Formats: sequence, structure tokens, C-alpha cells
Amino acid sequence: MPENSHPTRRQVLTGGAVAGAGLLFGAGAFSPGRARAGTLPVAGTYDVVVVGAGAAGMTAALTAASLGLSVVVIEKADVFGGSLARSGSGVWIPNNSVILAAGVPDTPALAAEYLAAVADGGSTAARQAAFLSNGPAMLNLVMSASPLKYQWMQGYSDYYCLLPGSMPNGRSVEPSMINGKILGSQLANLRAPYMAVPSGLVVYDADYKWIQIAAVNAHGAEVEADCLALGTEAALLGETPLTMGQASAAGLRAGLISAGVPVWLSTPMESLTVTSGTVTGVVATVSGVSSLINATGGVIIAAGGFEHNLAMRTQYLPQPVSTAWTLGADTNTGDGIQAGLAVGAAVALMDQAWWGPVIATPDQPYFCLAERTEPGGLIVNQAGQRFVDEAAPYGDVVKAMYTQNPDSPDIPCWLIVDQNYRDRYMFDETLPTLPLPSSWYSAGAVYSSATIAGLANAIGVPAGNLEATITRFNGFAATGVDSDFSRGVNFYDHYYTDPAITPNSCLAPLWLPPYYAFQLQPGDLGTKGGLVTDASARVLDANGDVIPGLYAAGNSSAAVMGYSYAGAGATIGPAMTFGYVAAKTIASS
Ligand SMILES: Cc1cc2nc3c(=O)[nH]c(=O)nc-3n(C[C@H](O)[C@H](O)[C@H](O)COP(=O)(O)OP(=O)(O)OC[C@H]3O[C@@H](n4cnc5c(N)ncnc54)[C@H](O)[C@@H]3O)c2cc1C
Repeated sequence: MPENSHPTRRQVLTGGAVAGAGLLFGAGAFSPGRARAGTLPVAGTYDVVVVGAGAAGMTAALTAASLGLSVVVIEKADVFGGSLARSGSGVWIPNNSVILAAGVPDTPALAAEYLAAVADGGSTAARQAAFLSNGPAMLNLVMSASPLKYQWMQGYSDYYCLLPGSMPNGRSVEPSMINGKILGSQLANLRAPYMAVPSGLVVYDADYKWIQIAAVNAHGAEVEADCLALGTEAALLGETPLTMGQASAAGLRAGLISAGVPVWLSTPMESLTVTSGTVTGVVATVSGVSSLINATGGVIIAAGGFEHNLAMRTQYLPQPVSTAWTLGADTNTGDGIQAGLAVGAAVALMDQAWWGPVIATPDQPYFCLAERTEPGGLIVNQAGQRFVDEAAPYGDVVKAMYTQNPDSPDIPCWLIVDQNYRDRYMFDETLPTLPLPSSWYSAGAVYSSATIAGLANAIGVPAGNLEATITRFNGFAATGVDSDFSRGVNFYDHYYTDPAITPNSCLAPLWLPPYYAFQLQPGDLGTKGGLVTDASARVLDANGDVIPGLYAAGNSSAAVMGYSYAGAGATIGPAMTFGYVAAKTIASS
């Protein structure tokens, strides 16, 4: 069979029946107990079976191959990349070789102190130590075994700069540009990005903050010009430039192609097979046929979170829930977590997600990041009152939304801005001064009015309260001190702001009509609760004992970040690292 191709239906059906498979804990399409072990065809036998071709899975497979193991990646979607391909692909790995070479004054002690404070008891010290000690080696391996290179996201501060060990100038990296043409025909199978970079430009995650304010900031205008120059250069060279999550996913995939690792698309895992208490493989739909894939060393669950599974969201997450507010890959429906549960695994952090406020725009939820924190905007609840530092890390804003007060519900809440704000900053793809898409108005995603009272009436908020809130907020803008929510005290608050605004770049008054209200919902980048693992990425049962043969990484596992989010890339960094750790553990077992 060619290296990267999928077995045909015929090859699967003639591949032979299972010999000697013991108990089959089938979840089927998650209907546990379909014991068909003796009759299933065998689609292959590998040292390692990796479930999911996203951040954790492709890193795990690359590591396994580099350690001399035979490995297959099975992927449910007909594209590879998962949420990774959709992402901005910041990667938070303290003390990695890229940031140290750039002069970032990181040390293992500082990183350990900061991570412990951020995770706040939500993960074990042993896992935190494993993440910090393996992260730099993982990144080096990825850079040597794939075309991926990384660059420092200079200035993208850690999210909690008031905590000890934080780096106000940032310790995150992002992938350098990759020419998609290196993937050949596989480029067509790369999952689409969440937001496409406008054609003709090469845009990095770190550019976003500057592009947002390019109309009023000279450096922003320079960054935009650089993006155009890089895009022009790539076009002249006949390249297909990929950055952010597209570069990450393409680069990892290219590494797998070089290493001869097959990635079988449209091959969902149905369940795990267990022989004498050890996980020995998976049942997957291979070319439309339920088949066994044997794993002599172990199975690595890297099938993402359960963000698109409404029943699981309803069971585990704070209410209200919706699958319309998540940005995660649509195939992330908790299959890996359910398969683990079916073989006795413990789960943790199931009420947590990588939260962020979104605007429910007609096409897809819009992750409201820079727009939420630029000066001249504030967030109010349904009583017309502020309830949070609007520039706080996105996860904290949604946590505040879920701290519901029945007298002043926060879901949905409203981002209020004026025309002065709209004249200065981009909003999603709408350039400063230009009207917002009319479809946003018809979808109820935004309202506008010539007066604050008119706006309040349009969104059903008490007008007097909203007027009083804005008057008070404008006073804070004049003094530079937000006496209510300390906006601008944490260094991170200033990341997506406008340096021209003084005395506090986070705070500007709202004064120029018309006024706008954007409806905010509690969105997420994916869920962060899942299978409980140890420092070696081995899955544990409810007694804390290892389930032999079963490993998990990424959003299928309970996050090492615990209840929080350390900085840009705090999901992808650990996902890749524990994928790496899982493969290393199998190789040394
Ligand atoms: C728009 C956006 C921006 C983001 N930006 C960042 C960022 O800048 N930095 C950061 O750290 N994080 C970011 N994230 C979050 C990050 O992308 C995810 O947390 C990360 O990709 C999770 O990695 P993973 O390997 O667990 O899952 P994924 O990368 O989602 O991969 C999981 C894969 O498993 C597959 N799968 C699911 N079920 C099965 C099954 N039954 N059988 C086989 N395969 C299966 C899925 O189809 C998917 O391809 C962002 C997310 C989004 C959506």
C-alpha cells in the first residue's frame, strides 16, 4: 500500500479476521458493547495507532516515527489538521530554543513558578513539570523532523503578568511561513482556516494586533505593508504561503510524509479493543468497513475535545450551552473521551473550556478579541452595567459571564462602542469608517442608534443605567484609572490597544454617535476537560491506576493548564508536548 494512502474497501475486507482479540469494549458510534471481535477484518498492525490528525496527534506520530516505531494516524474527517489548522497557532512553550536565542530571559524556575500559579491546583505538579521539561525538546524535534520553523511572538505578554514568573514581553512562538506546495496533492486535504488570510498577503498571528490599528498607527501601517510585500514575494516565487494554523498543520503533515507515516482520512475510531486488561488497538471505520487496527505498543487518543457534542456539553458544561458558539473543528465530538470512559478511564475538568466571547455573526461565531479590548469600548450586562475588565484574558471574560446574577444576566451581554472607535479600528474584516455588514444587523449580532438611550431600547437594557455606566466609564478614561475593574493594570490588558490613547491605552471615552452594541455569547476554542493522564501521558482509571496501552494528549485529555490559560498558545503547546511524551513513553516501554 502506498505510504500515505488509505486501504481500499477490498483490501480491508480481505485483510483477514481478528485472531485472538479478547474483550472488545465497543462504543461503535458510541453504542457500547458491540462485541464483534472475532469477525472484524484487520486493517493493519502498528506499534502505535494515533487517533486524530491535529496538534497532539500529528506531533505524536512524528515523534513515534523518529523513534523508529511504526505508526498510523487515523482521522475521522476527510481533511487533516483539526482545530490546529483553524487556529492562530501561537505555541506556549517556556524556555524553548527559539525564545532563548531571541534573548527572552526565561528560566525553568520562573516558568515553573508561573505555571503552578496559573494552573492553580487544576493539574498535578508532576504533569506541569513534564510539560515544562519536554516542551523545548518537542519543539526541537518538530523543527528537525519537519519543515516547521518557529519565531518569537515578541511582545505577546503572558496573560497574567501580575503572577510570579510571568514574561510581560511574552514567551510564545508561532510557525514561520510554509510553502503549501511542499504537500503536493495533500494540500487539498488541509482543513480550511477559521479566517482566511486575504489573498496576496502573508499575515502572522503577531501582525494581527498591528493591522487592527493600522489606520491610526504608523507601525501598524508598516506591518500591513510588510504583509503585502511578503505576499508579493511569495506570489513571484510561485509559492502558496501558509502561516498560523495552516502552516502548523501543513508542516506536521509534511514531516509525516517524509517519515512515511500513513494518515488515513475519513477513518473514525469507533472504540478501543482491550485484551487481558491492555488496550491493544482500535475499531475504526476503514473505507466504510468496521475494522480492527492493532497497536502492539499503544493507542494515543488525540481526538480533540467535545465542543461539537451538544449532549456532552449539556451534561458537563455550565449552562446555557450551544454548539453554535464554538470555533473548534466540527468533527471534535468527544469520541476519544467516550472511548476512554468505556474502558474505565477517569475524566477531569469536564466543566471547563478554552472560553472566549464570540459574536454570533451569520456565517460562524466571530471570536471577539482585539475588538473587545481596544479603547472606546465597554461590556455591559442586561442591566446595562459593567461586570468585568473587558481587556482581561478571553477565558476570564466568559467565566465572568457564567457567574450569572439573576437580576442582571450576563448571557448575552453587549460590547458597546461609538463611531470614534469605529473610525479608528478594524472590526473583523470591516475597515475603519466603513459600515458593518447588513447581515450582522439582520442577524441581531449588532444594533446601532444615534443616541445611547435609543441603543439601550434596541437591546432591551435600561437606558438610564447604560447612560450612567458610560458617563462613569468616560470619567475613568479621563483619569486613566478604572476604579471598578482595574482595566489596564495587568500588562496583558494593553496588548490589543491603541498606544496613542493616554493616560491609559485601554480606556477612551465614548462620545461620538452613532453608538453600536454587539451581542456577545460565551464561545470557546474547544473544550479542555478529558481523560486523566499522568506525567507520561498514560491514561488513568478512577483508582489512579494506569490503563495499559492507552495514552491521551491534547483536548481529549484533562488540560495541564487546569482552570486557566497561561498565554498565547497555552492549548497547542501542551497538546503537542504530551503527544510527544506519549510517543516517547511507548518507545521506552
Ligand atoms: C480559531 C481557533 C484559533 C485558535 N488559536 C489558538 C492559538 O493561537 N493557540 C493555541 O494554543 N490554541 C489555539 N486554538 C485551540 C487549538 O487549536 C486546539 O486547542 C488544539 O488544536 C487542540 O489540539 P488537539 O490535537 O487536541 O485537537 P485538534 O487539533 O482539534 O485535532 C483533533 C483531531 O481529531 C479528529 N477526531 C475526532 N474524533 C475522531 C475519531 N473518532 N477518530 C479519528 N479522529 C477523530 C478531529 O477530526 C481532529 O482532526 C485555536 C482554536 C481555534 C478553533
